[in-house]
Amino acid sequence: MAERTFVAIKPDGVKRNLIGKIITRFEEKGYKIIGLKLLIPTTEMAASHYAEHEGKPFYPRLIKYLTSGPIVAMVVQGPNVIAESRRMMGATKPENAEAGTIRFEYAICQEYNIIHGSDSPESAEREIAIYFKEEELCPNWNTMLEVIMDAK
Ligand code: UDP
Ligand code: MG
Repeated sequence: MAERTFVAIKPDGVKRNLIGKIITRFEEKGYKIIGLKLLIPTTEMAASHYAEHEGKPFYPRLIKYLTSGPIVAMVVQGPNVIAESRRMMGATKPENAEAGTIRFEYAICQEYNIIHGSDSPESAEREIAIYFKEEELCPNWNTMLEVIMDAK
């Protein structure tokens, strides 16, 4: 199976009308979006998503933030997509993010930093399962399109 990761445009990104710009970056880079939905995460989903941060001082605000409005949840597929999409996002703190990265371009604070991406294969599979059923994903749409075009 090709490598896949979970990416979310957080509520501040949606509110600021950055959905198109952010999705475009992944498309233009060459990655395939194989799962996509707009939803307001429940407290349970947010708690599960950020379980590793439970007990940290910023955790309660983080849960409030993630459940404050719709997010765009995505599964993105392609070679080395877990590490590479994190690189495209830039450092958690926008002031440490490399120029040209999503957080450098669109965020000014560490707390509201626009985007989330899984940090390992284990987190990717765990996070995908919080937001998607396997049958909601379209991992082969590229091949499907080729088959249709070949048949013409
Ligand atoms: N966060 C925060 N304060 C901190 C560290 C993190 O509010 O001191 C928030 C921020 O939105 C961040 C999220 O918690 O994106 C998860 O933190 P993590 O360290 O996992 O960063 P990420 O993986 O998102 O770069
Ligand atoms: Mg993280």
